[in-house]
Amino acid sequence: MKNLGYYNGKTGLISEISVPITDRAFYFGDGVYDAVMCRNNIPYLLWEHIDRLYNNCTLLGIKPPMCKNELSLTIKELVRKVEGEEKFVYFHISRGSGIRNHSFTNGEGNLCIMIKPQPLDNVYEKMNTVLKEDIRYELCNIKTLNLLPSVLTAQSATENGCEEAILHRNGTVTECSHSNVSILKNGTLITAPCDRFILPGVTRAHLLTVAHENGINTEERKYTVEELLDADEIIVTSSSKMARGVKTVDGKAVGGKDECTLSILRDTLYINYLNATNI
Ligand code: PLP
Repeated sequence: MKNLGYYNGKTGLISEISVPITDRAFYFGDGVYDAVMCRNNIPYLLWEHIDRLYNNCTLLGIKPPMCKNELSLTIKELVRKVEGEEKFVYFHISRGSGIRNHSFTNGEGNLCIMIKPQPLDNVYEKMNTVLKEDIRYELCNIKTLNLLPSVLTAQSATENGCEEAILHRNGTVTECSHSNVSILKNGTLITAPCDRFILPGVTRAHLLTVAHENGINTEERKYTVEELLDADEIIVTSSSKMARGVKTVDGKAVGGKDECTLSILRDTLYINYLNATNI
């Protein structure tokens, strides 16, 4: 198949699968999602993403329609049906269905999965970014379907010919519209702490692990826009980007002063992805 959509057990091309208007994802964005890259039919770090999805379900009181193992097996089975060496696998669980009413519905959530061919970003290409105010609310640690502020900031990146929007709250850098962001300064990797203002990215966690394994100092602390612009390197991380350097912020050249540490981090993450043999 060219791509695949799945909704509560029904499968077909993405364009053929429809969702009933009673699904709370439709009118409240009441659900959580996750996404992984898949190479040679191995969904990369699937278990970590499933773990985060189920933690998010618990935080919001959503009842998944199947256990983690079953979801893992379902995804592994479905990716085999889609053509291509590299694919993007998106999955979400909404709270369930009912006539529109803010209070929770009873019953199990609805599971939706979408799989499409998609190559990983070129990790060696540094990206252009814009700086935007972080206008999201305070549950950024939960990967919810409510993404309007991220959509708006991502769109402004696109309109400016950029790939990402780096977000800040009153001058403190948080993350990007759909990635985490870290900086290198004097050989130290600095990244915002896991609080309610950032998503605890799976790739961000791996970046920290790789830094530790390579003797690179790390600091999980708040940092400012000033520090961002003055950083030796800026690194954007996500499952579909791995770790990529940044070359401009709002059209001004940034980083480019510690290619060596950047390449250790970026290349190790990339090689780990290429060498993944198990899930
Ligand atoms: N931050 C936000 C807001 C995201 O949407 C994402 C990915 O979708 C990330 C960070 C990166 O998370 P991960 O590395 O788990 O893909």
